[in-house]
Amino acid sequence: MFRKGKINMIRTFALGLVFGGMIIMYGSFLVSARWAMWLFIILGVLMVLASTMVYFWIGFISSTRAVYVICPSCQRETKMLGRVDRCMFCKQMLTTDPARATDPSSVQAHVPASQNQNKSS
Ligand SMILES: [Zn+2]
Repeated sequence: MFRKGKINMIRTFALGLVFGGMIIMYGSFLVSARWAMWLFIILGVLMVLASTMVYFWIGFISSTRAVYVICPSCQRETKMLGRVDRCMFCKQMLTTDPARATDPSSVQAHVPASQNQNKSS
């Protein structure tokens, strides 16, 4: 479950909701009873709406609460949510909490990218 970064995981979940909602809406063609047809359609619409809300929510969270860091493993800029998250590219575990870091010298690589503009590479 935690093989992906949190942001990617929530996006995958929202995408699954969209597909699930569409499949359920297609299910309305398979039933003959009118009430069951509407049940499928309403359930499908609710799932698509829920995924839209999840997308808005993750967009809001990732623009306000996520921290941009340079991943120490692949040197790419990634977003992390909370104190512990995985790199979006190489799935490396990252943390901003020095107490949770496995190697104290690697904490230096976890400062936000905005404070790390003068990189030499
Ligand atoms: Zn990485």
